[in-house]
Amino acid sequence: MKIYVDNAATTKMSRAAVEAMLPYMSEIYGNPSSLHSDGQAAAEALYSARERIAAVLGCTAKEITFTSGGSESDTQAIITAAKLGESKGKKHIISTAFEHHAVLHTLEALEKQGFEITLLDIDEYGLITAEQVKNALREDTCLVTVMFANNEIGTIQPIGEIGAVCRAAGVLFHTDAVQAVGHLNINVIEQNIDILSLSAHKFHGPKGAGVLYARKGIALQNVIFGGAQERGKRAGTENIPAIMGMAKALEDSAANISANSEKLIKMRNRLINGLSEIPHSILNGDREKRLPGNVNFCFEGIEGESLLLLLDDKGIAASSGSACTSGALDPSHVLLALGRPHEIAHGSLRLSLSVENTDEEIEYIITAVKEVVEYLRSMSPVWRDLVSGKKEFVIK
Ligand SMILES: *Cc1c(COP(=O)(O)O)cnc(C)c1O
Repeated sequence: MKIYVDNAATTKMSRAAVEAMLPYMSEIYGNPSSLHSDGQAAAEALYSARERIAAVLGCTAKEITFTSGGSESDTQAIITAAKLGESKGKKHIISTAFEHHAVLHTLEALEKQGFEITLLDIDEYGLITAEQVKNALREDTCLVTVMFANNEIGTIQPIGEIGAVCRAAGVLFHTDAVQAVGHLNINVIEQNIDILSLSAHKFHGPKGAGVLYARKGIALQNVIFGGAQERGKRAGTENIPAIMGMAKALEDSAANISANSEKLIKMRNRLINGLSEIPHSILNGDREKRLPGNVNFCFEGIEGESLLLLLDDKGIAASSGSACTSGALDPSHVLLALGRPHEIAHGSLRLSLSVENTDEEIEYIITAVKEVVEYLRSMSPVWRDLVSGKKEFVIK
């Protein structure tokens, strides 16, 4: 048995997306900047992809810039708003403590350049409110950047409300929507989003392709310099095959959001209910306001790493925290921001589902996690101390 439940780290490409890419590797391989007909065929494909992606987001083709993925889009979005702000003497940015590192590390770099960063506290379920954003706004705020949905604990923020607060104050609003696009309904106009990042490999498209949406009138700042591609805002020959695969994957996932979420939410809730039966366990994130496929638990007295390895032995590909931080032994910054103490944050498990998972797999996972947690606890000196009362349980 091989079960893949790490879709927040990356997804398998859909057959349709793979097929949409193939002609652009072998037949229509021209450079879209070339004037000859081979180049122009590629340029036309590129334009059609731009229009199709814009249609899904509710914007115009001109507002779409192709990038190499979520990290690049986040970086360019934040650098753009910072440079625009700086030119007006505004050097204050509002964000949250549980953003992706692509956002947090860009903010840290700006802090070294004299920007002031306010990271809003999240509540125990991983949510912030538009009110918090409103209260944090200052005369010199140039950007609010809040992720649409969290990659570790799946919480969905009130993006439309936050967007409205920013719009009313005339402050740019960026959202890292990498986990949300293709999974939740998004419309940049209705949700008052000025700048948005997305990445194809999180919705069954190829790796290394992403989009930066920037509302008309926002002059993007380059982070990659060179040729005049993407209206001079992002140099480098466009990755046409990946862009075509991304457009196809996006159209397909957007068209199936309701059917897919209904199926995912059923499996997710069954998984949450099953794992909740494990004593001294706790669900991370909000029960309702969470991504349809996200499950994230902490188990007391367990090391996340050992849990993952033993689950892998049983054929289950899962994750603790995010793909970018696992490997490092540091506990997840998201779980720490939630207020989980270090020893608890270490024992986390993230299961992120796709519609390819089945009810049988969910039952198998519940049984396997219960067995592995019990086994690890039976060998853990920490657990022995907890059971004997020498130490107090953090998770009741
Ligand atoms: C995956 C992810 C990113 C990074 O996207 P890449 O395309 O891998 O660079 C950024 N933000 C969030 C929320 C993500 O889940």
